Amino acid sequence: MPYTLPVPRKKTIVITGAGGFIGGHLARHSLSLGHHVRAADIKPLREWYQVHKDAENFAGPGTPAKLGGDCRDYSLCRALCKGASEVYQLAADMGGMGFIENNKALCMLSVMTNTHMLLAAQEAGVDRFFYASSACVYSADKQRDPNITALKEADAYPALPEDGYGWEKLFSERMCRHFREDFGIHTRVARFHNVYGPHGTWDGGREKAPAAVCRKVIAAVVSGKHEIEVWGDGTQTRSFTYIDDCIKGIDLITHSKILEPINLGSSEMVSINQLVDIAEDIAGVRLKRNYKLDAPRGVAGRNSDNAKIMEYLGWQPSTRLRDGMEATYRWIHGEFVKKYRGKTAAKQTVSSFAHGSRPIPGDGYNAESQRMKTWRQGIPATYGKAKAVKKKAKR
Ligand code: NAD
Repeated sequence: MPYTLPVPRKKTIVITGAGGFIGGHLARHSLSLGHHVRAADIKPLREWYQVHKDAENFAGPGTPAKLGGDCRDYSLCRALCKGASEVYQLAADMGGMGFIENNKALCMLSVMTNTHMLLAAQEAGVDRFFYASSACVYSADKQRDPNITALKEADAYPALPEDGYGWEKLFSERMCRHFREDFGIHTRVARFHNVYGPHGTWDGGREKAPAAVCRKVIAAVVSGKHEIEVWGDGTQTRSFTYIDDCIKGIDLITHSKILEPINLGSSEMVSINQLVDIAEDIAGVRLKRNYKLDAPRGVAGRNSDNAKIMEYLGWQPSTRLRDGMEATYRWIHGEFVKKYRGKTAAKQTVSSFAHGSRPIPGDGYNAESQRMKTWRQGIPATYGKAKAVKKKAKR
């Protein structure tokens, strides 16, 4: 009898946040490997960045699925995980700096999604549970200089993460660890560093720097208003990870023996000014830069130390920023011209905060709590200052 290769077992894979940027790409990747995909997202299906017809889609209101797609709902989490082999927990209420600095309570509420998915996955006895953490868990003390030494995994402690979003990620990372140690579920945790690429958020207030910069440059070209608004003074540094590297890294880490949280990020560090240079080069323009110094700008410097991932996997993200930005720019350009032209395009040269991101009175915006040292810890120095000054002036 001729030898036939064993057919790889088709797995049932659960991806939460599948209507979002990374989840949409991961669903496509998993389908291409022949797996059965259960994709869930709180957003209505028409708002998903990628809808894969071959997946079992659980979406927000407006779609027929009885259960909906809100993973805060434990009964949905249990239905998703039943009989599944792997769970990829990507659902989170998040966005770029403009969103996370102005929506701390919303960011922290993602703890419900993480908790319920972890519980349901453990109950269902899945083989692997992947959790998408973030470089925002790193201590603010280690990120005060734009010429930062790249962040090693150990730099998350002593803990002083990004207020709101980062604290929730750090807490959920630890929950994954304790579920693994106490209940034996095989959890894996990656700390993503600024992932970018096509099919992601590029307008509306939740977009991150690479997409925002591409959109602003495109808006300047389409409107003929050759100016660009830059948040902060442009010297803040970051590294940006192309989506294909992120998906490959998720796959490798999930199926590895790496038990500790690990960086999944590019180590090609640039300043925001250099990121603008790249987008301008792609567009073939030079723009007048207007620096918005009171805009959310995050930490002064952040880069990924990849020694550990190299040691474990002999691999690290390697797509050149220029190449990834080119693909991202082209995709955003296509979307932009479908939506804006002439006068409406000009408005897209600046950024706004996300919908529903009105500063909420409370810690950080409340002049009284700003004076309390313990609350100020972990809150960026500029947070809520403008608001407090305006309030005073009104009185
Ligand atoms: P995204 O906003 O495009 O996707 C997240 C998705 O989760 C959204 O579509 C949102 O509707 C969905 N969601 C929110 N609450 C939900 C709920 N209760 N139930 C079901 N779905 C819900 O973001 P992304 O860039 O694709 O990020 C995916 C994951 O990676 C997130 O956990 C994020 O925190 C993490 N991460 C991303 C980056 C990055 O640079 N993109 C960096 C660090 C960490």
